[in-house]
Amino acid sequence: MPSPEQHNDPAPKDGAPVIDQRYAAFKIRIEASPIHRWGVIAGEFIPKGHKVIEYTGERISRVETARRARISTRLNYLFTLDKYWTLDGSVGGSGAEFINHCCQPNCKARITGGHIYYYSKRDIQPGEELTVDYRFDHDVEKVDCSCGAPKCRGTINLIRETKRSKRIAAHQAKRDGRK
Ligand SMILES: [Zn+2]
Repeated sequence: MPSPEQHNDPAPKDGAPVIDQRYAAFKIRIEASPIHRWGVIAGEFIPKGHKVIEYTGERISRVETARRARISTRLNYLFTLDKYWTLDGSVGGSGAEFINHCCQPNCKARITGGHIYYYSKRDIQPGEELTVDYRFDHDVEKVDCSCGAPKCRGTINLIRETKRSKRIAAHQAKRDGRK
């Protein structure tokens, strides 16, 4: 979620940050969003299942990620790449870091070959805001959600029960495998 105070906005024009078009596969732009501060808007029709933009940022270690998460008093642009690396979209971000959370999003992140890409989950019409599900852990600080989706969880965090039952299932599967 955006915290522009900490963001090195790439040459803002009329106050709005801009998309780095080198990383965008479709015409998209940044505008003030009804969901939260800035948002990313489709400038043309985006068909389902297409790569829309790469999420870029400074590649940082687990230790540095923990440090930045600690010093940040508000939400940041840290995107977990894998067990070891995180991308900090506030440094060298493509603009994808401004894509807001929605509990029923129209985009989905896919991580391949050390890169994070946002794909369209369905057809997106020109003028629609692009959204992804941030899926914050249930055990970090709760962040209220007001995305307005019919199935809004009320929080950007995943619901505890879902994750716990998944964990139990995984544990069970492991145990069963050992038999
Ligand atoms: Zn929501």
